[in-house]
Amino acid sequence: MKEIVLAKYGEIALKGLNKKSFEDMLTKNIKRRLKSLGKFELTSAQSTTYITPLDEDIDLQDVVDRVSKIFGIAALCRACVCEKDFADITKKSIEYLSDILGSASTFKVNAKRSDKAFPMKSPEICTELGAILLEKFPNLSVDVKNPEVTVTVEIRDTNAYVHAENLRGAGGLPVGSSGKAMLLLSGGIDSPVAAYMMAKRGVHITAIHYVSPPYTSDRAQLKVEQLCEKLTDYCGGIAFYCVPFTELQEAIKDHCPEEFFTIIMRRLMMEIAQRIAAKDNCLALITGESVGQVASQTMAAIACTDAVCRIPVFRPCIGMDKTEIIEISRKIDTFDISTLPYEDCCTVFTPRHPKVKPRLEDVEKAQNSFDFEPLIQKAVEGTTVKTFNYEG
Ligand code: ATP
Ligand code: MG
Repeated sequence: MKEIVLAKYGEIALKGLNKKSFEDMLTKNIKRRLKSLGKFELTSAQSTTYITPLDEDIDLQDVVDRVSKIFGIAALCRACVCEKDFADITKKSIEYLSDILGSASTFKVNAKRSDKAFPMKSPEICTELGAILLEKFPNLSVDVKNPEVTVTVEIRDTNAYVHAENLRGAGGLPVGSSGKAMLLLSGGIDSPVAAYMMAKRGVHITAIHYVSPPYTSDRAQLKVEQLCEKLTDYCGGIAFYCVPFTELQEAIKDHCPEEFFTIIMRRLMMEIAQRIAAKDNCLALITGESVGQVASQTMAAIACTDAVCRIPVFRPCIGMDKTEIIEISRKIDTFDISTLPYEDCCTVFTPRHPKVKPRLEDVEKAQNSFDFEPLIQKAVEGTTVKTFNYEG
């Protein structure tokens, strides 16, 4: 019996003339993600990608696990390939689903006939196959409202497919289809979640991280690299920029009023990020900020930070509670890394009484008392980059 994985599109199915380019992006992403498992044939038709394993020893469960994290796919399932012939569909349904049907007590048959040339209509397929399965598996009775098992028969272009599972996909749009943006990635809980949320909208993520040795340790940087690695499950390849930030932070401490330390630091982070973003074709910045979470995330503080930004800043966690953010970070498996003890450059020289409602003119005045430009340029020049790819 030949078994394949069907990956059904989400929003891509609704696209118009540019649907093909989304499809191609999705196919490319699936190929990359499955490469280390063996050889596959991928074909797309009727808003579905058909993933056919070409090597004997491929475990389709591994395929399902990987594909369930690929954005652009709304639903997926393993399915048995049948001839477009009712006798073959019946024979293979009994064989392929014998375990699950043998141990269930209720079921129903659901038929989808996208090939209207098939001689039986959907209700007829359901009734006839249902009757045969009832006879074959005396443990079963029909429950159309709340069945334990739904046997689905799909009559498509070249073949028919039978399956009894319909798993939820990652949803969203294929990574890369919306262009590239630069994520300010700290070692905390929020920014990896922000990466996941934007990747879901098709954004290819590039990460930037600021380090302040000796105030921050190598271990803290390694932790952020570990987060990048984990994020490749959903985001695909990630370029990781690491910015030496110590001199800028020391300059802030030496030349600016303490109450503005954090806000000026955030403005400098944004300035550096957008310069590197421009060189790397990133069209926006992304942060893990959430309104009111800390002093630098009040609306007044965010306005002061945004005042230096020349490209859009996306903050997908902006309206989320910490508990909601944590829920996602557990789902994407970044929580345990994020909660390892570490020091972030944000926690170096934190003011005792940060201004929660800073006025832009006061912040600008405080920042203008020192010429940060040479240090900004030096930090940009000293920035290193490495790439994390999906390893499987
Ligand atoms: P997170 O949990 O993401 O660290 P946070 O609640 O700790 O967020 P802040 O430390 O105020 O909040 O940082 C707000 C945002 O600024 C982060 O979500 C991240 O996007 C960015 N950021 C903070 N520190 C760094 C850093 N060292 N390098 C890169 N970006 C940073
Ligand atoms: Mg943080």
